[in-house]
Amino acid sequence: MSKSAEYDVAIIGAGHNGLTAGCYLASEGKRVVVIEALDKAGGMCNSGYTLPEAPHHMIHPCALDLMSLRVHPMVPDELELARHGFCQERMLPGYVFLHPDGSSLVFGSSPEETAGEIRRFSEHDADAFLELMKIVYAFVDMALPQMRADPARFNFGAKMKSLAALLKNIKLKPEIMALMGSPAYTTIMERFEHDVTRSALCCLLGAAGPIANEGSGIAFALLGFVQRFGLGRSIGGMQNLSNAFVSRFKEVGGELILSTRVEEIVSEARKVKGVRLADGRILGAKAVIGAIHPKPALEMVTSGEIERKWLTRVALAPANSQGAAPVKVDVALSGQISYKRHESLRTDDVSFRKSGIILGTAEGVIDNFRCAARGEVSKMPYQWMTAPTGMDPSQAPEGQDVAYLYPVAMPVNPTQGWDAIRDDVAQMLIDQASEYMDGLKEFEIARNIDVPQDWEARYNVHNGCVVHIDTLATRSGGMRPAAGLGGDTLPVEGLYFGGAGIAPGGGVNGLPGRITAARVSRYLRKKYRQ
Ligand SMILES: Cc1cc2nc3c(=O)[nH]c(=O)nc-3n(C[C@H](O)[C@H](O)[C@H](O)COP(=O)(O)OP(=O)(O)OC[C@H]3O[C@@H](n4cnc5c(N)ncnc54)[C@H](O)[C@@H]3O)c2cc1C
Repeated sequence: MSKSAEYDVAIIGAGHNGLTAGCYLASEGKRVVVIEALDKAGGMCNSGYTLPEAPHHMIHPCALDLMSLRVHPMVPDELELARHGFCQERMLPGYVFLHPDGSSLVFGSSPEETAGEIRRFSEHDADAFLELMKIVYAFVDMALPQMRADPARFNFGAKMKSLAALLKNIKLKPEIMALMGSPAYTTIMERFEHDVTRSALCCLLGAAGPIANEGSGIAFALLGFVQRFGLGRSIGGMQNLSNAFVSRFKEVGGELILSTRVEEIVSEARKVKGVRLADGRILGAKAVIGAIHPKPALEMVTSGEIERKWLTRVALAPANSQGAAPVKVDVALSGQISYKRHESLRTDDVSFRKSGIILGTAEGVIDNFRCAARGEVSKMPYQWMTAPTGMDPSQAPEGQDVAYLYPVAMPVNPTQGWDAIRDDVAQMLIDQASEYMDGLKEFEIARNIDVPQDWEARYNVHNGCVVHIDTLATRSGGMRPAAGLGGDTLPVEGLYFGGAGIAPGGGVNGLPGRITAARVSRYLRKKYRQ
């Protein structure tokens, strides 16, 4: 390919991370194009009217809760997304655990609030929770500055902030190490005695992965984040957030090409030259960002340009490596759901309609992960669920709801194959959820179930992994997605990863895109004096 670059940067994938990178680079005056295979932007950060039988019920096939974005709010703030239509509202209460016996535990807005809830079941556990949260917060204070910085840089400021947090909590250091190094499940069973406390914590932390595994204590960061930063939802749906990114990108002069797949990252003599599109066009670019899963990104580079060792390493990077993954069931309803049994057993008059509901038991969480690893579906309910319309009634006709069911640990590859069991599994999940959520069965108009293979096909994400690469301590910082591939340079000059498969990881927060934009900006300055 000999023609000169038409673009400074070509970005593959208009997920929110690709768009984030595009916004930062275009606002520096770079000529940026984002190419997206689907007919709309957003990737896994999307919503839409996808059920033909319920054309006015908004469905969220993927992300819904803004937790990550509240932990790292820089991207929407810096890009002024509110000016482009993004509007976030806080969920109050945020996450609520419902026990099969009718009791409920609200994860409050502070450790004290949550301890107050726990005290209704066990004085011992409430005190133990406050003790635990000191360790969790100390860890969060140390980890946060590192998460927000580029792990490929020295980051003096971030290191000093983490060091200051460590020195402030130096007496807790052995406990922090023990917490992070142990299975989260062990810590929960050791420190707590009541089944409601144990189950609530297992069910919350299970969202980060198999909690009985060594090193899964890192999942306690999730508890720290939920307590300190709370939860929000994008009013108008997640697509509204992605549309705000698009609007900002266009405002700063970026070009977005939809419905066009990138087939090849064109490289000559180990230097990127641009991208080849499915329609045969070649777009020249000085730098290329693969804001997609790192495996397909590297495999797309011109044959022979990448050593086999890198292709092997990225192909084997863990993506749903324990055999478990969420699936998604969406149900459009002709009426409104409620949680009468659990609400009526409380002494306050709190409503859970705006909350994210977590249900299951400690035993069930372990069983779900074990069954999934064997390719089986557990018979014990462990799911998260909510009605997004509780927060934002505009997402369905007046007086109606949409239900969002998210069983956390289903088999990625069930032994019978998903097509043989998906309808039965959807029915089982709805049956179980309806024991907690009134109206779910009575009001059903239409439903959809998505499994990891659907996400792999739709978003080109390896093994359907919702965070691209598993969230593991061994895959954090510069080790994400793999040793030698998480830094500033890839095996081909001018090529960068830019999605959830690099630090700090998955979820809707835009930080991978922000970090990549800074890397590319430095590269263009150094190589092209731009
Ligand atoms: C069911 C589910 C629930 C979730 N819930 C939450 C939640 O509540 N909160 C939260 O914070 N996160 C949640 N997540 C995770 C979060 O959505 C993702 O981690 C995040 O959106 C990934 O963003 P990304 O931009 O890095 O990549 P993606 O969203 O995967 O975007 C990549 C884009 O690249 C495109 N693409 C791929 N290959 C090509 C190609 N060759 N050419 C052109 N385009 C290409 C894809 O079509 C896609 O649009 C959830 C995910 C799922 C699936």
